Amino acid sequence: MFTPLTGKTVIVTGASKGIGRGIALRFGQAGLNVLVVSRTLAEAEKVAGEIGANASAFAADVTKTDDTFAMAAAALERYGAIDVLCANAGIFPAAKLGEMTEADFDHVIDTNLKGTFLSVSAVLPAMKAQKKGRIVLTSSITGPITGFPGWSHYGASKAGQLGFMRTAAIELAPWNITVNAVMPGNIHTEGMDGMGEAYIASTAACVPMKKLGSVFDIANAALFFASDEAGYITGQGLSIDGGQILPESPMALDEMGGP
Ligand code: NAP
Repeated sequence: MFTPLTGKTVIVTGASKGIGRGIALRFGQAGLNVLVVSRTLAEAEKVAGEIGANASAFAADVTKTDDTFAMAAAALERYGAIDVLCANAGIFPAAKLGEMTEADFDHVIDTNLKGTFLSVSAVLPAMKAQKKGRIVLTSSITGPITGFPGWSHYGASKAGQLGFMRTAAIELAPWNITVNAVMPGNIHTEGMDGMGEAYIASTAACVPMKKLGSVFDIANAALFFASDEAGYITGQGLSIDGGQILPESPMALDEMGGP
């Protein structure tokens, strides 16, 4: 039995859609106050509306220091504490080497990696004062474990998040603040719907469980990292991918059999 998190407060960045929306909805169901953050206020408001009275929206761009500190100030003003940060905002535009511009590279690193640093920096004063906190980063299997053409900048940003996490976990341990990461495989988001059924089917075929993950598969792991019971776990990344990283060759999938 897990200790209820009712009444605690979470900030979820990139929460207007996709995995962040799933995290926001799941934490809302668990009774936390949820600050739903994205750059687009109207979209964040829709998700806050789906959650109910224990949620509200805030517009912030995680690449901007002022925005992330305003986000933390809003959570404190509205709810009185910041117990959990889910630093989830991220982008994944594709560009192969030779075509990728410096601006392409900077945009991805700024959003995914610097955005993580700025979001964490913004919540630290409150978490250190409380002498307690939970930080959950949304990394990926892409970068830390796997690669995919067009995503060298993305992979670097996602692997970079784990490098950041390990030192942050050591530095913040004296304040009882844990820093962990969820590492999604291929997750069925609204964006994935736009790629078409054939793309979804071919992606699912590469996964031993033969399906894409749901945003709630990721949200459940984030909720675990946020729990009191996970208080002795820090600096860890957890792949949530239906076994996608396991086959050592396509033959492993051909040979796996099944019921
Ligand atoms: P998504 O559906 O495209 O949603 C991205 C969210 O981030 C939106 O709410 C977007 O809202 C927000 N956002 C983008 N740039 C932002 C910025 N500068 N500041 C604040 N918010 C920003 O993405 P997703 O697929 O759910 O991915 C979410 C996270 O999971 C990312 O970190 C991604 O790398 C990771 N991930 C996803 C998958 C997958 O299969 N989907 C797999 C592995 C890892 P606005 O545009 O309104 O700001």
